[in-house]
Amino acid sequence: MKFADLGLSDELLQSVLDAGYDTPTAIQAQAIPSVLMMRDLIGIAQTGTGKTAGFVLPMIDILAHGRRRALMPRSLILEPTRELAAQVAENFEKYGKNHDLKMALLIGGVQMGDQVKALQDGVDVLIATPGRLMDLFERGKILLTGCELLVIDEADRMLDMGFIPDIETICSKLPATRQTLLFSATMPPVIKKLADKFLSNPKYIEVARPASNNTNIVQHKVRLPARAKREVLRHLLKTDNVSTAIIFANRKTTVRELAKNLQQSGFSAGEIHGDMDQSARNAELQKFKDGVILILVASDVAARGLDVKGVSHVFNYDTPWHPDDYVHRIGRTGRAGATGRAFTFVTDEDAEAIANVEKLTGGAIPEFKLNVADPADEPRAKEPRAERPARKAREPKVKAEKPAREPAPAKAEASPRKERTPRIPRDEPRPVRDALPDLPEEPGEWNGPVPGFLSVSAL
Ligand code: AMP
Repeated sequence: MKFADLGLSDELLQSVLDAGYDTPTAIQAQAIPSVLMMRDLIGIAQTGTGKTAGFVLPMIDILAHGRRRALMPRSLILEPTRELAAQVAENFEKYGKNHDLKMALLIGGVQMGDQVKALQDGVDVLIATPGRLMDLFERGKILLTGCELLVIDEADRMLDMGFIPDIETICSKLPATRQTLLFSATMPPVIKKLADKFLSNPKYIEVARPASNNTNIVQHKVRLPARAKREVLRHLLKTDNVSTAIIFANRKTTVRELAKNLQQSGFSAGEIHGDMDQSARNAELQKFKDGVILILVASDVAARGLDVKGVSHVFNYDTPWHPDDYVHRIGRTGRAGATGRAFTFVTDEDAEAIANVEKLTGGAIPEFKLNVADPADEPRAKEPRAERPARKAREPKVKAEKPAREPAPAKAEASPRKERTPRIPRDEPRPVRDALPDLPEEPGEWNGPVPGFLSVSAL
């Protein structure tokens, strides 16, 4: 099946081709013809499946004919986070370049003035987060009665974030004759109820969950004591062929501290979390997309659905508390045919959380073992000094838990940002024991991938 078989206009097909795609993904192949036929639709699909183009493309053709009116957007896309809203806007820009469509982005954290001005001029597409939309609606700055097409994206995430009452209110303000598309990774009862209430005879499409079926993502869990997390992370960053990585932590404070710690160790790292204002979040994200920073330490909300090409690794520095977050996190890698690796750090306290993840994803995640050899085999004190002089000088032992006292990175490591090619400081694989003084005093060694390991698609 090709895009040309889906009933899209020639101008649109040209933009799709220009974007580098000629074959639709499963959700696109199923959704686009139905949306073009003006049917309501429920799409059970994750980010990473190509679902955004699945609704953006037919919307562009549907909206190609018609007239804009002040304060009355012709279509509305609801997104749970500002980042996702911005990403959908980027899709409209990319695919809508051959069309005369006006778009406005209505998101929190940015000045309202420009957004209101755009609305006054009339827009074909309004992309909004529910909170900001309700705010403007209540001030009488927007009318939803001309809105003939509604997209509720990431509905289950909207639920997690407490947006369902807002969405119900918004739905009730739109014309009853509108077309409604609802996308969700899962279908919990509340979302099912929402769909029953606001969609009419929808076409139901379900595509494979990337987490369960995406054999492009090699998944591992790493059992370790909490105090060893930073050192193990640094070790993996240096030795697992990382080109770009997103590191997830459960708490904003951990995100901040970890990003700082990595920077102090010479890594090209940035951070993104809910306490940052929108412009700071955008700037950091842009740096990551542009390759100015290669590691992004992130909280779940801030990173939900982020679409950054070529992320080679996802690290769950903390096992996520909610199993769905696991699916969303690891979906940042292995996107659109690329391969990726996902490591999840698991401490004793995470037993229940990892069990829930494995229940959801349908199987045990293969363990990445820290192999502890017999100490007599390779006594550390007797290692020939000549093999590791630079490292000894550069990386004094055990400073992991006290970032403030960590040595400033040596020059060679501190300036990788200036280089165009790999900015992640690398060194040779080395016994992790050096970096893990709190582990048993044995010459432990990461064994890395083992035969069969790469074929474990886990889940
Ligand atoms: P999404 O699920 O919408 O977040 O999209 C995930 C990624 O897939 C994005 O980087 C898209 O640019 C990419 N993508 C969208 N459509 C296609 C396609 N037909 N073929 C390959 N990649 C695509």
